[in-house]
Amino acid sequence: MSSIEWTERTWNAFVGCSIVSPGCKNCYAMRMAARCAAFGQEQYIGTTQKVNGHTVWNGRINRAPDHKFREPLSVRRPTVWFVNSMSDLFHENAPPEWVREVIEIMCRTPHHTYQVLTKRPVEAEQFFRSNTDIVWPDNAWIGVSVEDTKRLFRIDVLRRLPGRIKFVSAEPLLGPLGSIDLSGIDWVIGGGESGPGARPCEPEWVRNLRDECLRQGAAFFMKQWGKPANNPLASQCPADAKLADFIKTMDPHGKGGALLDGRLWREYPADANLPVR
Ligand code: SF4
Repeated sequence: MSSIEWTERTWNAFVGCSIVSPGCKNCYAMRMAARCAAFGQEQYIGTTQKVNGHTVWNGRINRAPDHKFREPLSVRRPTVWFVNSMSDLFHENAPPEWVREVIEIMCRTPHHTYQVLTKRPVEAEQFFRSNTDIVWPDNAWIGVSVEDTKRLFRIDVLRRLPGRIKFVSAEPLLGPLGSIDLSGIDWVIGGGESGPGARPCEPEWVRNLRDECLRQGAAFFMKQWGKPANNPLASQCPADAKLADFIKTMDPHGKGGALLDGRLWREYPADANLPVR
């Protein structure tokens, strides 16, 4: 099982990445990869390096061992998989043959649901242009991360990509997205950043995102506030209480809670066809 609220399991056919925009600054996968490498997990070795005392991805992409690369083929139970949580399927250094293999596995397993999230829709578009025989299966959702207004162009590119269900992950949300165009978008994930060095996320930014989803008919999923100070309930914390404990009691969802104006928003796309548990 994955600890990510909007998926069930992660599937990492290959690992490794590089920082592409401000949303990557505190990349959880980058820290995790360095830890896995330190514990001797071979596929992570050589994917990160130290720069000024900080661990960063170095752009090297490692293929997972075969049983991991083909993992969904051996799972009969219909499962929702987040694809390449430790990489980006459309990373510029990912060999196109590997990407083709991943897509082929998704095609061969229609009983599963796949969630492909990228920060590289331009590279994705290029991949599809160069591989015109590829059929992107209906059971594979495709989405882009958008952390600020500068990254809104990714949604325009996403609209041109193949895919029955398209989604936007605005997490970590680093600023207001304003009047975001959600035409053709089925699902939006929102949330604040968590972990060491987490940046602020204002309730108004999330409210605006939810309201745009309601107005334009996209499903809205509030993942987390990230750090307790981002949670709107923080203003109600008694002076003698510890904020983290107060939020945990008042809003025990995700990291830093997830309630927005008293409601837990955990919607999925209308025709998601998710496995019934
Ligand atoms: S694209 Fe994703 S995996 Fe790669 S550095 Fe950015 S946040 Fe991390």
